Amino acid sequence: MKALVYTQPNEVKIQEYASPSLEPDEVILKIDAVGICGSDMHAYHGHDPRRKPGLVLGHEFAGTVMESGSPLFARGARVTGNPLITCGHCDYCRAGRNNLCANRTMVGMTRPGAFAEYMSIPASSLIAIPDDMSSDLAALTEPAATAVHAIDLSFKAWRSTPADSRVLVIGGGAIGMFTALLLKHHGVAQMDVAEIHDQRRAAVAREVGCGLLNPRSEQIPVDHYDLVVDCVGAAATRVSAFQSVRPGGVIMHVGLQDWASEIDMRKLTLAEITLLGTYTYTTEDLRTTVAYLHQGVFGACDWVDRRPLDQGAAAFQDLHHGRSASAKILLKPFNG
Ligand SMILES: [Zn+2]
Ligand SMILES: [Zn+2]
Repeated sequence: MKALVYTQPNEVKIQEYASPSLEPDEVILKIDAVGICGSDMHAYHGHDPRRKPGLVLGHEFAGTVMESGSPLFARGARVTGNPLITCGHCDYCRAGRNNLCANRTMVGMTRPGAFAEYMSIPASSLIAIPDDMSSDLAALTEPAATAVHAIDLSFKAWRSTPADSRVLVIGGGAIGMFTALLLKHHGVAQMDVAEIHDQRRAAVAREVGCGLLNPRSEQIPVDHYDLVVDCVGAAATRVSAFQSVRPGGVIMHVGLQDWASEIDMRKLTLAEITLLGTYTYTTEDLRTTVAYLHQGVFGACDWVDRRPLDQGAAAFQDLHHGRSASAKILLKPFNG
């Protein structure tokens, strides 16, 4: 089969790759659409020691079951899925927090991913999608679920209600976009998105219709926001998050571009700031997200760019050089 293989830092190539073989309790999926994630870009840049050259990346997939070794899904079923393959029996899995599974592995990391015509995956990781839901929309489940999980955790710590709150989202990439769309759906009174990339800021303005800030030229208000969601997670954005959150407010740290930081422990303590981390999503979050996408909670999502898998190398290059107007590119192995 054809696959887009990560061959060396800053290079992915279309190559002939061994087709997956059917294992017990697994299925073979034909990939209908697969998104390029920030973490795929991180691997592409050679910055992820867990993702080594020779690997097929890609974990934001929608596909059709071609062969099944499980009674859970029959041939022809249209699905998306949880790229985290979890054990189902550790404390976290049993408590419904399988994103923290002690024994987890991952599609596109510890096993071949979805930048290919076919991929194998355990049937227990799959989620059925409605008949009238497009594969392109379903392939957005994973990044949108990251926002769903983060906002869910934020609500648990948040003392104010969305209707009388001011929120700042830092970063207008795909996760920032989904976060802002979700917060708008929840009825947040006043929301600003901070983003340095002009085209991404324009896309957020068009899709979300909230306030926009360019941190390169504008001052972010100090002690102002009830909730700050940092979808970048860099030293500079963490400083902005601490400056802009108001006393008693919540900072949700979603992105993880780097992690060495001085945290303003004085403000955290004296102003009762709640600092939260979040990691991916549970399988339940993914199910909720499929329903949200299907109901239109995130809008039509037509800001997403779609390209044939054959042009995947150019898509990685465009994202690398910041030439892509869209924060999310979907690759289509069969009908791009
Ligand atoms: Zn992803
Ligand atoms: Zn587990």
